[in-house]
Amino acid sequence: MRVLILGGTAEARALAALLADAGRYVVSSLAGRVARPRLPVGEVRIGGFGGPGGLAEFLRSASITHLVDATHPFATTMTRHAVEAAAATGVPLVRFARPGWRSHPHADRWHWAASYDDARAIAEGLGRRPFLTTGRQTLPYFRDAWADRTVVVRVVEPLETPPPAAWQVLLARGPYAVDAEVALMREHRVDVLLTKDSGGGYTAAKLEAAARLDVPVVVVARPALPSGAHEVASLDGVSAWLDTERT
Ligand code: NAP
Repeated sequence: MRVLILGGTAEARALAALLADAGRYVVSSLAGRVARPRLPVGEVRIGGFGGPGGLAEFLRSASITHLVDATHPFATTMTRHAVEAAAATGVPLVRFARPGWRSHPHADRWHWAASYDDARAIAEGLGRRPFLTTGRQTLPYFRDAWADRTVVVRVVEPLETPPPAAWQVLLARGPYAVDAEVALMREHRVDVLLTKDSGGGYTAAKLEAAARLDVPVVVVARPALPSGAHEVASLDGVSAWLDTERT
């Protein structure tokens, strides 16, 4: 069994460790977007494959027997390419996605948005000083419309293009603590939080902080999975799937 994990998440690193401990051969793949990525144990390759054809070629040349897509729930292009490459090569594929925040205790108080544009429109009706945590790649949805607003943006990597002068950009990566999130939101006097349904515990503290401060929350819902993707929501689910797919 030779497993390729499409990674870039904490769970993908945990999965690599779990499978390596079980004596399985694992290679993890990272997109290469982060300057100093946290590396999983085992073999690692970095950089795009050059589309679904490139991934299919990699699966063949590395004799991969099982493909696990453990990329971020919003990494939709990679997930689509994984489905296509698996279909082209016959390599079995499972999509691991951590549970989202739909079942979070405060989820029914939040404003759920179908898109980033939708989230922006909803947030405009709720506050003037947004805390924007939807990720570096989503900033074009907000840049022009909010160029004159005091926006606090938190990203993992520095921005490639300078932000509007009124924006304050914070560089940080989780995990975060609730008290620190409360302090940060108070310090910047944010009055609406924008996020996306990433799920997991790494970045969830802001949701509790917003509840404590009575700051409204706008959450962009998860994109739909491409058809043909079998999904599991736990690392044990991946192990169980590998057992059933053993050749
Ligand atoms: P994306 O839009 O779905 O993918 C764009 C392109 O990046 C893919 O077509 C692929 O290039 C390359 N790519 C993505 N993930 C890869 C991987 N694990 N290994 C090799 N190439 C990969 O992805 P994204 O949203 O930009 O995310 C990029 C990476 O950051 C992913 O690994 C993801 O897990 C991680 N991440 C994303 C988010 C987020 O909010 N989107 C948050 C945290 C971490 P080719 O077509 O050339 O193969």
